[in-house]
Amino acid sequence: MVHPHIKISSISPLERQIRSIIAKKGPITIVEYMSLALSEKTHGYYIKKDPLGKAGDFITAPEISQLFGEMIGVWCAHTWQAMNFPNPVALVELGPGRGTLMKDLLRATRHVSGFHNALSVQLVENSPALIKTQKATLAQEKVSISWHNTINELPNHVPLLVVANEFLDALPIHQYRKTKTGWHEVMVALDNQNNLTFQLSSSPTTTLSIDLATEGDIYEYCPSAIAVMQEISLRIKTQGGAALFIDYGYLEDVFKDTLQAVKEHHYHPVLKDPGEADLTAYVNFSLLASVAKKAGVCVFPPVTQRDFLTALGIRVRAATLLQKSPAYEVSGLERLIDPAQMGTLFKCLGLTHPSLRTLIGF
Ligand code: SAH
Repeated sequence: MVHPHIKISSISPLERQIRSIIAKKGPITIVEYMSLALSEKTHGYYIKKDPLGKAGDFITAPEISQLFGEMIGVWCAHTWQAMNFPNPVALVELGPGRGTLMKDLLRATRHVSGFHNALSVQLVENSPALIKTQKATLAQEKVSISWHNTINELPNHVPLLVVANEFLDALPIHQYRKTKTGWHEVMVALDNQNNLTFQLSSSPTTTLSIDLATEGDIYEYCPSAIAVMQEISLRIKTQGGAALFIDYGYLEDVFKDTLQAVKEHHYHPVLKDPGEADLTAYVNFSLLASVAKKAGVCVFPPVTQRDFLTALGIRVRAATLLQKSPAYEVSGLERLIDPAQMGTLFKCLGLTHPSLRTLIGF
């Protein structure tokens, strides 16, 4: 008899599925691997559970401190005023996690005259588990809130105020490695023991023409982040508005492997337990800025999270909270802006309709 607590096999249904896909059709790209691990319709990491917070796998800025969502609220209200108070306006959040940022943003802007009357909240989220959490977090809000599976479903005829924190890093990337024979795509294959392993594609890719790299360098490319940037930029150009993307990433090409898995707040091997760990890659801000520029919007040079939050008055707000309640936990402030923590690794990218010449925080 098999004891019910002893696992017969430690391979999850998703890993089994990935192995069988590779056995059938050969090695898959990292884009395919990440898409399955994160978003497979039943076992995908984001699809089945809420991974955020202390008890989850990782923690994000809005979960660290209410100051973060409040500052994004200041950015939204200020930008809405600079846009000349459009009514209606769609307040869009991409990948809202637990809904904490939106809750803090709405609380911080409650007294901004006319803002809540003008806005409808539009959340883009593909995780049923997180939609449930968002609905619970935002249940008491008086404004209208709609959910969309993709950006394409957003309203077409209203100006947009778009915010996205740690959304782009969750989108799947391709990886290429430079060798003597050119750039070869890094694939996910099976080794002799039938375990997942990385393997270079045998023939070089012909579409990548980057000369500035040396042998062994890695180039990462995220087609969905580019598609998101194109779509949001085109909408802002035609519908009006502004967007704010916050994420960890780099301003110049780094030519290194930034793909990482995190489980229970620790790094985890990327190919181990697909669907059980978060998978992310750094965001290529300069590439995304150039995509937005090409699409015809006004792009503000990316700034660090530290500079952005400081310009919005995060220190003043923290001092006020501390004055009101001496028990107020200020450690969150340092975590958000300290260069040794999230302060400089995280960058902010702002874009606006060309008629808006300035953008608060940039
Ligand atoms: N912004 C939140 C959550 C970041 S985690 C915070 O700062 O706490 C990434 C979020 O993006 C999750 O809500 C996840 O479900 C969502 N997400 C990831 N890929 C997505 C996709 N392709 N389409 C829509 N939402 C996605």
